[in-house]
Amino acid sequence: MTALQIPNITLNNGTSIPQLGSGVYLVAPGEAEGVVSSALEAGYRHIDTATIYENEAEVGRAIASSGIPRDELFVTTKLWNSDQTRAAEAFDESLDRLGLDRVDLYLIHWPQAMFGEALGAWKSLIEIAESGRASAIGVSNFEISDLQQLLDETGVVPAVNQIELHPLHQRRELVAFCAEHGIAIEAWGPLAQGKSDLFERPEILAAAAAHGKTPAQVVLRWHVQQDRIVFPKTTRRERMLENADIFDFALEADEMAAIDAYEAGTNLGPDPRTFDVR
Ligand code: NAD
Repeated sequence: MTALQIPNITLNNGTSIPQLGSGVYLVAPGEAEGVVSSALEAGYRHIDTATIYENEAEVGRAIASSGIPRDELFVTTKLWNSDQTRAAEAFDESLDRLGLDRVDLYLIHWPQAMFGEALGAWKSLIEIAESGRASAIGVSNFEISDLQQLLDETGVVPAVNQIELHPLHQRRELVAFCAEHGIAIEAWGPLAQGKSDLFERPEILAAAAAHGKTPAQVVLRWHVQQDRIVFPKTTRRERMLENADIFDFALEADEMAAIDAYEAGTNLGPDPRTFDVR
């Protein structure tokens, strides 16, 4: 199986991550093994899962049956909210389900500041990283204040912050804070979860026509041109190939600016400041 040519981003601890991967949120158990196998066959080498997606075991089976050498793959999973006080055990359970002896990136899924447990979880992740069983550690859905607490209390800077980010929700202040501290941005919902009118907007259609690309490719290119890591979700092989075919063109400054101007503060997922689901 031949890997797609995807650029790597170097994280703040020296770990390399393919800038584009395949995300498996809402890929149903029963379907996930086939979807991940199909992504690996299409040439993807970076898979983003999470304990709460309930498909780690299937991701693991697809990896095992692919025969791809472990060191050519990049696997991310995430600590679920109710496990923040038992992160070490929850991590071992994730490894068991994945059938792996290490992951490439382990994230705290949500800050859950109202419960005050993320700092303890972060200290556990630091130990996991020191043990070599996670090549890098990071967070997801963290606000500036959540990040500042980890920096102040441990001095260990998360390698990434995985946040909802798309043209309608650009999180500029948070993105600037992360850039200042060397925290890479992983944009979840990069295509606005397919729930907006983005793909019909005239500026996106014009850029797509100008470059011979699709609207989805234009939006993904807007992300990668800003050094973000993306893993759009699709279960369809043709879209897997389409979403990866974004490294042979560049949007012009005015095309980037037109998409920048879509900022509307529209989050499609939960607000991380109030999301208290355990
Ligand atoms: P996304 O923006 O990737 O949107 C996925 C939807 O976009 C698909 O269901 C499909 O309808 C559409 N789509 C995909 N490719 C397309 C194409 N080429 N043309 C037209 N439509 C296309 O949204 P997402 O799945 O929410 O985010 C991607 C990944 O981010 C997830 O699978 C998951 O790994 C991660 N994620 C993380 C969190 C978090 O809290 N950390 C939350 C949500 C998602």
